[in-house]
Amino acid sequence: MIKVVFFDLDDTLYDHAGIVETTLHKLRERLPQIAQHSDAEVLELYHRLLEQYHKHYIDGTWPFEEAHRRRWQAMLDHWAIADVDPEEMRLYWREQYFANQKLVTGARELLEALRSRGLAIGIVTNNSVSDQVAKLRDCKIDHLIDHLVISEEAGYGKPDERIYAIALERACVNPAEAMMIGDHWENDVLAPSKLGIKAVWFNRRSASQPDPSILTITSLEPVSEAIAAIFREGLR
Ligand SMILES: [Mg+2]
Repeated sequence: MIKVVFFDLDDTLYDHAGIVETTLHKLRERLPQIAQHSDAEVLELYHRLLEQYHKHYIDGTWPFEEAHRRRWQAMLDHWAIADVDPEEMRLYWREQYFANQKLVTGARELLEALRSRGLAIGIVTNNSVSDQVAKLRDCKIDHLIDHLVISEEAGYGKPDERIYAIALERACVNPAEAMMIGDHWENDVLAPSKLGIKAVWFNRRSASQPDPSILTITSLEPVSEAIAAIFREGLR
């Protein structure tokens, strides 16, 4: 029987991609040099470099700020912009990003509904403690989280399954009593599955399904449907 549901944070409960999209118009104001590039092109570059550089923070190669600065340097290099300081861009982007925070639609309602059914809620996320705690607090869902596991303090980042072992330990449950829901196939589905934690893939962008035996949800709402799917999966 499932006792705890773990969630990924970014792009599962917290609408990182949506915030990036709304922050984009601020970037255009700050960097008129990118006017000839479409929104889709800029977003593709942003997400590609994020994936590429953030993992070097997670694996300990660079400190948090360094990974961010290098990411901005790579972005400016890509656009051949030589007269802008990557550190200035990093700070500008963060300021705009945190001014536009929002949750994925249905996230709060889903957490409340799961808790009202007696389930504990955990978060297993890759990032710095200060950023992730601020996101939960600013979006006013911190009081709904029972167990918070963040790579920086856990000492391991997804897809290292040891971060899930820590999450199980903190929640005092065995793998059969836990479920993980997240948008990243390798980090949120394959990694917890290695420990025997049931995983649900949150396929927000309707990507092709790598393994049809894994339960997939494409939206957190209607919450009643998400709950029904989670409970069905929990009983399998
Ligand atoms: Mg994610």
